[in-house]
Amino acid sequence: MISINEFNFRNKKVIMRVDFNVPLNDKLQVTDNTRIKGALPSINKILEDGGAVILMSHLGRPKNGYEEKFSLKHVIKNLSELLNKPVKFADDCIGNSAKELASGLKPGEVLLLENLRFYNEETKGDIEFAKQLASLADTYVNDAFGTAHRAHASTTIIAQFFPNAKMFGYLINNELKSMDAVLQNPQKPFTAVLGGAKVSSKISVIENLLNKVDNLIIGGGMTYTFIAAKGGKIGHSLVEEDKKDVALKIIKEAEEKGVQLFLPVDNIIADDFSNNANTKYCEINNIDDGWLGVDIGNNTIKLFEDVLKNSKTILWNGPMGVFEMDNFAKGTIAIANALVEATKNGAFTLVGGGDSVAAINKYNLAKKVSYVSTGGGAMLEYIEGKELPGIKAVRE
Ligand code: AMP
Repeated sequence: MISINEFNFRNKKVIMRVDFNVPLNDKLQVTDNTRIKGALPSINKILEDGGAVILMSHLGRPKNGYEEKFSLKHVIKNLSELLNKPVKFADDCIGNSAKELASGLKPGEVLLLENLRFYNEETKGDIEFAKQLASLADTYVNDAFGTAHRAHASTTIIAQFFPNAKMFGYLINNELKSMDAVLQNPQKPFTAVLGGAKVSSKISVIENLLNKVDNLIIGGGMTYTFIAAKGGKIGHSLVEEDKKDVALKIIKEAEEKGVQLFLPVDNIIADDFSNNANTKYCEINNIDDGWLGVDIGNNTIKLFEDVLKNSKTILWNGPMGVFEMDNFAKGTIAIANALVEATKNGAFTLVGGGDSVAAINKYNLAKKVSYVSTGGGAMLEYIEGKELPGIKAVRE
């Protein structure tokens, strides 16, 4: 495996898969450039060595063909400011214009290709399409962790055209290092906190984690499938009736494997799924008809905080309540702060998966935990124990 840090990019022409799938406002301006910033260390390393960089990415979900609102030209200004240099743009990621711009690219210059997903071939993993992209450069860097779980042309298939000149960028390296610190060699006690809406989307994650963790904390909407399975009264709370047996199996497996499973003991309930709903407090298994659980209660917060305080490794995925509504964010904020405290006390804390990342950013705590993963789906699949195609393609 080639390491980006040790590789000398002098006079190399590098095609680099980045994740510039950034949010745009209705004026088509970038509203959050975190992902662009994430790619800077790799881009700068190549430029400083004296190489040229061709950047490729997707943006949004275009159907097939050009759509103005998904054009990567909208990120040029931001990227150029961050790099402090002009960025050339090819308005088609393959074909003559891309070829001409790529072949004229000089050391120290940056070229951005138009949205890869204007071609269906990208997500289909089309080999001819990958070959055309590959023909633009002599070296391949993958630094898009968020799409590493997809066998797309630019994330996976392209790697075969660079048998001796392919590597991960710094972002992917950091992601893998942080996840492996948690999954392969965790300092004990190791606690996983899982929340979010549904049990069904996290079953394989839970199953794999049961072989690794000392404590498993469950919160958020998925709580109620567990409570219902145990015979509790959950009123109108979110429940997956067909996953009750899975919940019981998880409870039994945790017992067999010596994993301490912590479920909420109390909660805030609301008479409507709205920030302005009437709310009251009750035990987790005694919710009135017509009411639904929207956040964990104070005793639960205390219980979870105590577990987290005594943990040396913590993995957090999924909010503890409907945190998007300010009145139901208290539990999620408390858990975020408990991770910050644990980090201060020397624990390794990893936050990942869409909504917990959104939460930790919303409360400005991202810099106070050990690592915040950028790849929601990719991270979950990695935690499930799956081999990600984009990772495999570079490693093998
Ligand atoms: P996920 O994508 O599975 O991590 O789920 C995240 C979503 O779960 C967020 O949008 C939360 O609002 C939602 N959520 C968390 N707690 C609850 C709850 N008690 N009832 C309904 N939805 C919830």
